[in-house]
Order: sequence, then C-alpha cells, then structure tokens
Amino acid sequence: MSLLDLKTFQSQVSELLLRHRSLLDVLSKYQQTNSTVNRSVIKAITECGCIEVDAKKQPYASSEQDAAVDSVPELTHTHVNGLLCETCRDFINAELGKNLFYMSALCNLLSVDLNEVLDKESRTCSTLGKFNLS
Ligand SMILES: [Zn+2]
Repeated sequence: MSLLDLKTFQSQVSELLLRHRSLLDVLSKYQQTNSTVNRSVIKAITECGCIEVDAKKQPYASSEQDAAVDSVPELTHTHVNGLLCETCRDFINAELGKNLFYMSALCNLLSVDLNEVLDKESRTCSTLGKFNLS
C-alpha cells in the first residue's frame, strides 16, 4: 500500500462527508469514534483476552531516577501483556480509521491543515525530545 498523504485524505473526507457536516455533529462523531476505539481495546482485553492489563505504580518516583531520563523507557511499564490477535488488530485498525476520518472532518470545518498539525507536532517532539512527557 502506498503512503497516502494527509492532504489527499482530508480532501477525500471532505468529498465523502455528506451527513454530519455541522461542526456539532462532527465534534460528537469524533468523540464517539474515540470512545469506540477505547471500547475495542477494552474488548480485546475482556472478551477476546489476547491482551491483558497488568497495571501498577510506575517505578520512577525517586529524584535520583528522575535525573536519568535515558533510563525511563527501561524502568516504565506499558501495563500491557500479550499481542493483539489478528481479529482485534483489524477491528481496532478500523475504529482508528473512523476516528481519523472525523478528525480530518473537524480539520476541514475549521480550515486546519492536518499535514501542518503533523509537521508542527513532529517538530515539537524533535525539539523537546524526551522532555516532552505530557
Ligand atoms: Zn484478540
């Protein structure tokens, strides 16, 4: 599959969005699809069982460890055990796509260029590096 640029995707969304053209509709659909993404991850855990949550306090509380930013990835846990099965991966992929669709629709309605959003956020990540821990 070729890499689709975000500008082309934004135009495609603009052409396809016949219903939910109101900002309020797009905002609510964007939020709804975000919830569905979260729900599909939860179903992978609670219904399929291909992944599990193993959560506990992150072990980087001491100031000594805070200073060693480079060691944070090794010290922290994702709280996820296992890998998504193909079915769950496909489902989550589809739900993320719907969420991206409404994010693009929101950008269209507000005249925000998604490529510009991506570029700016990438530059912020490059500038702040590992200190971008928000
Ligand atoms: Zn699964």
